[in-house]
Amino acid sequence: MQDLKTNIMRGKPLSVANKRWWLLLQVLLWLIGLFIFCCLIWVPTLGILLFWNILIPVAPALLVVALGLWRNICPLATTSLLPRKFNFSSNKIMPVRWQGRLQVLSVIALYALVPLRHALFNTNGLATAILLFCCALIAFGMGLFFDWKSGWCASLCPVHPVEKLYGSNTIASMPNAHCSECVNCSLPCPDSTPQMHPLITRKTFYHQISGLLTIGGLPGFIWGWFHVPDHHSWDGLMAVWNIYKYPLIGLLISLSLYLALQQLLKGPAVKKLIGFYAAAAVSCYYWYRIPALLGYGIFAEDGLLIDLTGYVSETMVTVICVLITCFFFWWLLIRKQREGSWVKRPEYKEK
Ligand code: SF4
Repeated sequence: MQDLKTNIMRGKPLSVANKRWWLLLQVLLWLIGLFIFCCLIWVPTLGILLFWNILIPVAPALLVVALGLWRNICPLATTSLLPRKFNFSSNKIMPVRWQGRLQVLSVIALYALVPLRHALFNTNGLATAILLFCCALIAFGMGLFFDWKSGWCASLCPVHPVEKLYGSNTIASMPNAHCSECVNCSLPCPDSTPQMHPLITRKTFYHQISGLLTIGGLPGFIWGWFHVPDHHSWDGLMAVWNIYKYPLIGLLISLSLYLALQQLLKGPAVKKLIGFYAAAAVSCYYWYRIPALLGYGIFAEDGLLIDLTGYVSETMVTVICVLITCFFFWWLLIRKQREGSWVKRPEYKEK
């Protein structure tokens, strides 16, 4: 049934004009990424502001509403696909078991790297630039060996678990602006599978573990993360414990609750539970992130974009957060589930 649905979502080949527009957008985003990367090294205050306090806060909402757009223009995806597009990739198909293993690794990378923001990345532009450079290098390396998105975008990218959780009910299926033909490099293809979510693939034990860790763990992890201040000095092992403690406790609590509820529910109710956890995770993010951006954060200086404490009341900020929470719960849980995928599958490659 899933395969049948997947096949229905086939898209027409892009016209030359459309291809050019998408290419222009991809190049533009790649250059913006390069600009932010350079700022992180040479003008770190601006680089940190642009990356951590503007780009990253916009990303979760974009993943929820129009994930296909992001999948088409993400600069790391473009970097990873350079070998494929310029014809020097080995174009190997990654075995399903290995995709599952890499997906577990991507969830672990997500939960390991994000707390390091408090100790290092949030306040150190060069460290953030090195992190991005390493990600770009790995993405490019995976693209050198594996076909289309199987090496990075559909397996190892640490943002991919979040995409799968948030992107189950996007606004529309975009054309696929990367793959010119489908070679079934990823099974199932996260881009072309309708109503994608982290547990849609239970092919191997690894797929199941990565799915459970993403859905069950993310809301608690986000809650815990926002209860840790940025550390401006490094005090050894204690600092490590301090940055991981609350995210880990939050993760374990929400995961345990998810596992217990999953046992009680069956069929479509499990799907609703996944939608509820996705809405809880993204709402929790904005519940803490918006006040922090505007000067009302738990830790005054952390993650500040513009200090509006003298201009906008705290009640007003709380009202905005409540409205945003209502929006995400409506979008992911109440709104009718759309049948489409993030992007339309291109024609299969002729054998
Ligand atoms: S559309 Fe086909 S070629 Fe492109 S990522 Fe999906 S499975 Fe791979």
